[in-house]
Parts: sequence; structure tokens; C-alpha cells
Amino acid sequence: MLSQESSLKLQSNRSSLQESGATVPLRERAWVEIDRGAIAHNVRELKHHLQQNCQLMAVVKADAYGHGAIAVAETALEAGASWLGVATIPEGIQLREAGIEAPILLLGAVNSPEQIQAIAHWHLQPTLCSAKQALIVSETLSELGKTLTVHLKLDTGMSRLGIPWQEGAEFFQQVSHLPHLQIGSIYSHLATADSPDPQIMNQQHQRFQEAIAQIKATGLPLPKLHLANSAATLCDRSCHYDFVRVGLATYGLYPAPHLQGLVSLKPVMQVRARITQIKTIPAGTGISYGYQYITAQEMTVAVVGIGYADGVPRNLSNKLHVGIRGQRIPQVGAITMDQLMLDVSSIPDLQVGEVVTLLGQDGQNQFTADDWADTLGTISWEILCSFKHRLPRVTR
Ligand SMILES: *Cc1c(COP(=O)(O)O)cnc(C)c1O
Repeated sequence: MLSQESSLKLQSNRSSLQESGATVPLRERAWVEIDRGAIAHNVRELKHHLQQNCQLMAVVKADAYGHGAIAVAETALEAGASWLGVATIPEGIQLREAGIEAPILLLGAVNSPEQIQAIAHWHLQPTLCSAKQALIVSETLSELGKTLTVHLKLDTGMSRLGIPWQEGAEFFQQVSHLPHLQIGSIYSHLATADSPDPQIMNQQHQRFQEAIAQIKATGLPLPKLHLANSAATLCDRSCHYDFVRVGLATYGLYPAPHLQGLVSLKPVMQVRARITQIKTIPAGTGISYGYQYITAQEMTVAVVGIGYADGVPRNLSNKLHVGIRGQRIPQVGAITMDQLMLDVSSIPDLQVGEVVTLLGQDGQNQFTADDWADTLGTISWEILCSFKHRLPRVTR
């Protein structure tokens, strides 16, 4: 176990660790492993699935769903992605500062002149959703003496960001006539593409097509179009248009069980921690805060150096299984801020320092964000995003 890890390179925002060029160091109690090979594999598989001439935008918002935005963006671009999507301006700046030159679409809203200055300075491409906002952007750019490529967002039924689709053509004409702006694309976002019932998705798609027909009728040149997230990319190739905006599938997870197997994806993230103490306690002993677990018989308990402050949800207490030496091991007692306990009675010769797999492959067992999400009644997106920066990201 340990020798395999010694080939892993550490990527951490703590420079002392970075400079040491350390490999997953014995000093780390817990970390997140990022498999660059899996990112490249997923991007290639997805690209293979796309309609001809459709490009892939890797959505790397929220630090690439917790995977580390720079490493993911670089790997995805090398593997054939041609666009990046982020939610916020600082997320875009971080990529530019790392030397990434690919076009970056800002999926979130921007409204203030200060934001527009930053966007223009860093060559990011904002999303516009209203005539008023477009006017502010155009005026700010005229003061700066700059032009910007912008993307128009239509709300076709998500009821989040976007101008109502019925007003799409009018909005398009208004923006077309504003100086300093170039329309790079028109897009919309689907609310239910991961549902086995396509009815709502089809309705949104139809509205998108109606809006595009009206935009075409203006006689102005039609910009690029995009609509699909991961789920629509997988399930409906008629949604592909000029780009697809793929987040979750880039990270190797399927948006829903019925979409499994349409392309072969590999999970990118593994979460591991070390055992910090082992002891045997008698029957009838309470474990952890609140004594939510009382031993029925003598138990060998291992303490592990990871907790809810690292992103292991406390609501998984007594419901979590982890991997050690290829065995499925139950977690016992309340998960605490920095530590959790395991019933390791089935591994009598276990040693302090051995590695525990919370997410990822251990022997024949695969521990997935989907399992955690099912147990918690949430979605795998939230699980991936929950791992804190206290855990160093280790890429290999
Ligand atoms: C986050 C996001 C995506 C990616 O969604 P996935 O389901 O993770 O593929 C695509 N488009 C927009 C507008 C988003 O906000």
C-alpha cells in the first residue's frame, strides 16, 4: 500500500509540501487523490459519443467539483476539451493565472462595472440574461475601449438564470446592436435531463428550438448554440449542438442510474486516510460523542484521521463502510470533526499508519459518491463538492 503511494505527486496549496516534492507523505493523515488518467479517459469517451463537430466544454466550477480546477482543466484540454466553464470570476482568474488560454465561459451572473472590468482584463466570457445588464456591459467596455465576446442565456424552463425564451429574439437583436459586444453563443440549461421521463426535457428543447427559429428569422448571423449538461449529453444526442457543457461525467460519475453504460466513465476522485490508533474495548462500551454506538461484544476499534471538517458528512455516522485491505469495514459511533472510528475486529493484525479508502477502489470493492448520496438522500454532485481544502489534492 505505502510503496504504491510513494509514486504519487503531491499537489497542495501549502507551499512547504509542494516544495518538498513530497509523495503522499507519511505525514498526511488524509488526502484526496485525483486520477488524471481517468479525466483524460472520460473526456475521450465523451468526445467519442458527441455528434460530429460538437465540442466539449469541461465544466470546472467549484474547484472542478472539488477535484482541483487547474489540474482538471489542463488534463481535460490535453484530452480534447476545447472550452472551460466556471461559475465565478475568481474561478476564471485562477485558470488564467495558471497560464490556461482556452476560452472560459462564466456561467454565473455578472452585473457591476467592476466585475466587467475584471472579466475584460482576464479575457473571460460572461453570460448575459437581460437587456439592462447588456447595456451596463457595453457601456463599461466602451469606457475601457475594449470588446468582449458574450453569451446569451435563455430560460426555457429551469427558472434560474436566463431571459424568458419568448423574449430571446428581441434580446438577441438588442445585444447585436450594442457596440463592443460580440455574441459568441446562445444557450439554455435543462432542469430534468437526468430523469428517465424525457417529457420536460423535450419541452425545454422545443422552446429552445422555437427561440432559435425566431432568432434565425431576424436575418442576423446565428451564433453557436449549446444546451446539454452531462445527462443530456449522455441521453439525447439531438441536444448536442455546437458544444456540450459537461461537469459530472468529466469526473467519472453518471447523473442517474439509467444513464450508466452509455459511455464508459471512470471515477476520478479517491478519498483516503490513515489509521492513527488501534485498541480493543470490552462489550457494553460506548463509542464517540453521544454514545450512538454501544459495543455488543468485545471490539477492535481503529481511529482514522478524517472527519466532518474534511467533508465526511456527519449524517453518515454508523451508516458508512470503508475499505481496508480489500475488506468492507463498518464505521461506528458519531463521526467527529477530525476523526472517525471503525470496527476492525475482522483484521486482527491491522497496523497504525495503514490506509483506509473512503471513496474509490480498494481490492474488489468500489466505494462511490453515489452510495454516499443515496444514504444521505442527496446527489453525488454535492458529495464531490464537500471535500475541504484541508485535504491536500494528490494528482497522479
Ligand atoms: C454546472 C452546470 C453544468 C454542468 O452540469 P453537470 O450536470 O455537472 O454536467 C452545465 N451547464 C450549466 C449552466 C451549469 O451551471
